Amino acid sequence: MLRMNPFLARLFFLTILAISSASAQTAQNPARLDVDLRDAPRHIFHAQLTLAVKPGPLTLVYPKWIPGEHSPTGPIVDLVGLRFTVGGKEIPWRRDDVDMYALHLDVPGGADQLRVSYDYLSPAEANGSRERPSSTEKFAILNWYMVTLYPQGPKTDDLIYAATLRLPHNWKYGTALAVARESEGVIEFAPATLTTVIDSPVICGSYLRHIDLSPGQTPPHAVHVVADGPGPLEATPGEVQHLRQLVAETGALFGARHYRRYDFLLTLSDRMPPDGVEHHESSDNRTSEAFFLEPELFGSSELLPHEFTHSWNGKYRRPAGLATPDYQTPMKGELLWVYEGLTQYYGVMLAARAGLMPPEMFHEYLASTAATMDDRPGRTWRDLQDTAIAAQTLYSSPQEGSSWRRSVDYYEEGLLIWLEADAVIRKQSGNKKSLDDFCRNFFGGENSSPRVVPYTFDDVVAGMSQVADFDWRGFFIEHLKSHGPGAPLAGIENSGWRLAFTNVQNEYEHVDEVAGQILNLQFSLGFLVHGSGGEDGDRILDVVPGSPAAIAGIAPGMRLIAVNGRKWSPENLRNAIRRVKDSKDSIDLLAQNGDFFATYSVDYHGGERYPHLEPISGKTDLLSEIARMKAAAVPAPTDF
Ligand SMILES: [Zn+2]
Repeated sequence: MLRMNPFLARLFFLTILAISSASAQTAQNPARLDVDLRDAPRHIFHAQLTLAVKPGPLTLVYPKWIPGEHSPTGPIVDLVGLRFTVGGKEIPWRRDDVDMYALHLDVPGGADQLRVSYDYLSPAEANGSRERPSSTEKFAILNWYMVTLYPQGPKTDDLIYAATLRLPHNWKYGTALAVARESEGVIEFAPATLTTVIDSPVICGSYLRHIDLSPGQTPPHAVHVVADGPGPLEATPGEVQHLRQLVAETGALFGARHYRRYDFLLTLSDRMPPDGVEHHESSDNRTSEAFFLEPELFGSSELLPHEFTHSWNGKYRRPAGLATPDYQTPMKGELLWVYEGLTQYYGVMLAARAGLMPPEMFHEYLASTAATMDDRPGRTWRDLQDTAIAAQTLYSSPQEGSSWRRSVDYYEEGLLIWLEADAVIRKQSGNKKSLDDFCRNFFGGENSSPRVVPYTFDDVVAGMSQVADFDWRGFFIEHLKSHGPGAPLAGIENSGWRLAFTNVQNEYEHVDEVAGQILNLQFSLGFLVHGSGGEDGDRILDVVPGSPAAIAGIAPGMRLIAVNGRKWSPENLRNAIRRVKDSKDSIDLLAQNGDFFATYSVDYHGGERYPHLEPISGKTDLLSEIARMKAAAVPAPTDF
């Protein structure tokens, strides 16, 4: 350390004082963020921000790297109507020439308060290049990052924001953000760090229902369900019982909770693309309008268990590269195979343990996942590690070309790797220990309020070694760097099952076909095609390189017109596959490629092929043991 000249030391001290006072927004003097959703049905969110400031240059930034999205997707394009005023007088601003998320201004002498007003334009329809839609005529989902600016520099943990929210008449709301008071249609939230505010979205609408998921217990758990009408809110007693069992199962798995309360925000709408984003004390879940009404939809979804698991794996414990101090610092995705892969594993296992996902659906889900990962020629050039590092580019990648490009495969392939790891621990310990023990040590500990404990690859290896003596470093590196052939299926095989193909459609893929209108012929002809109707109708989504369809010349992005001379439908395409089984006839597919039409003769005679799991005789059924209910069974609900 250098000895400092006393004059310079004094100057240094004064500079520090100036910097720290410039970053006000403290508990004594919080930033005030007033949001008005009365125009949310018209897809406009109004906001006004009041900040304590000092005269001189000031840079405000709009959140760019959105937690949970692992990508620089802050919807700056829809931040509009910006006006900066000091003492009622408008002052000029200028966007940074390089950083589109930074706005520069000069606070005039004598000013101590800056007011910024602006609107956020919420997309009315899903569109690949914009943020997800966040409102309809009857409800809205407010993610605070959409309507927040903050001073550049300080950690968002050090900025205190006091938010208020005005809702349309008679709208109700749900959120994990603590409320200080409510009056005349305005909700005043308790001041909180900007990190906590942004981590606590609000769901609101005309038709909103609260369901208690842990009656009489601390911390409280609830699901707040919103839809465009009252019908979709009708959860059955059985569904509520499974959701309560889910809360109990996470207690049995982790042994501790790191939140003051937990709120599932659940949007049931076919106007919003299905999605889930995790938060520490809540999650923003979006799925089909018929979620509670169609047993197959409820029973094939691991959405709520997945996002809930993230409270431990992702929020409390977080890869060091994703534990950034603000929303402008780039995130590093290299450990997403733990953050998302292990969560994918436990999302499905907890769905099975809590009875949300019936055992048959659980097997079909695993079979579909394993078969899809096993049929990824893209692994010959791109290893799993690269899919995690490139996460910020892959989330928005199209389905066209995904078997050759690969996608965010660290979810599904991560699941397979963690299943294999679980089987290894059980074998090494003579069935005395399991991956659950790793979770309890790594994610459990003492009950606490939200806090972030970052981890590195070495920490994961050390945590696994604590549970079972094994070369975990070598195990993970081998899987992360593998170029195949095929997916890691040892976890399924060591759990007593093997991947097998029959002509009976996979039940999980069937639900996907009905709900998503996507016909999956990946394991026979080698492509997926969007059903008829709508803008995407008839579009061939992906063609697996080397498959019969690819060899015939069919490519992603073409439109399927006819099968053997007749307008195509899922049924006549399936019939055509059945008809040519074990014959010499080809299947002639007429397809449109831009302005051109051509017939492609597919030389395929293997019949329909869909993945399933079949037991390996003589091997222990470890899968059933892993998926078995671990907590005490919660009683059937009578009180919701
Ligand atoms: Zn996730």
